[in-house]
Amino acid sequence: MEKYLGDYLAHLGMEGEYSAEDVPCEVCGCAETTVVREIISIGKDTFGKLPVVACNRCGFLYQSPRFNRKFYDDYYTKFYRNIVKGNSVPDQKFIDDQKRRGDLLYEAVKGYFNGSGAVLDVGCSVGTMLIPFMKAGWEAYGTDPDAGFVKYGKEKLGLPVEAMSAEDMKLENGKYAFTIILGSLEHVYAPNRVLEICRKASAPDGYLLLEGRGHPQGESKVYFNHNHHRYFTFTSMELMMIKHGWEPVLTTDDPICGPTRPGGIFCMGRVSDIPDEKRFFSIIDAGKRDSIDETLARFDRLDSIKRDE
Ligand SMILES: [Zn+2]
Repeated sequence: MEKYLGDYLAHLGMEGEYSAEDVPCEVCGCAETTVVREIISIGKDTFGKLPVVACNRCGFLYQSPRFNRKFYDDYYTKFYRNIVKGNSVPDQKFIDDQKRRGDLLYEAVKGYFNGSGAVLDVGCSVGTMLIPFMKAGWEAYGTDPDAGFVKYGKEKLGLPVEAMSAEDMKLENGKYAFTIILGSLEHVYAPNRVLEICRKASAPDGYLLLEGRGHPQGESKVYFNHNHHRYFTFTSMELMMIKHGWEPVLTTDDPICGPTRPGGIFCMGRVSDIPDEKRFFSIIDAGKRDSIDETLARFDRLDSIKRDE
């Protein structure tokens, strides 16, 4: 491992048996990349070197090199809440916000469905986003690797949630009319594996909703951070959907879950065929890709804005 990666782990207080390697593009598999930024946020006012690159074929923006799965499992089960939130029990403000987001989401999407069905929330946190669906007669299930939050949702709120990594979900085939992955696909270790699992578990006429971190609200070294291993744009969210067999029907930055995650972007897709590699590449080659020059210019612009220290 290069020295800066060891320094990075030391910054997190996570020295251990971890490794790191370069990652090919998670959207198109291309190994050729361009470094966009090297310095990212590790925590409050703490920064470190962990490069963010853009794929030279499709423009997808992601962290590379990346630490191994053991690192992320340890990080999310033991370190994440302590570093980011300071505890592993949700506070009331967080729960109230999640409930409100769930109410707004339900109102925004109910028109897509003929009555009720089964809803799956991948990265559900406490699980409160599921409540309005359950009230409307939906069968619901949520998973999240944060054991403390899941325990709270399950035991204190009686919600149908389980603690596990999204990659380890065991789901019934063809079951879910609606799958939501709100912000979580940027955190998981293997996003393609997660979408494969979700696609198999999706009902024949099912929908998937993805939410991404979206538009940067400040300088790049704050936007790029330890907890996001990839950064979706309208284009890359649509490409991931198409690749795994959902046809995007709505791609928007309208705040459909309310104003508490500013900049967020959404893509809703309906189950369709899974394209073979040739067809998928032809979609990218026909122009559904992000330009690296535009991405670099965008972050240069953001970083040139004078901000109060
Ligand atoms: Zn790519």
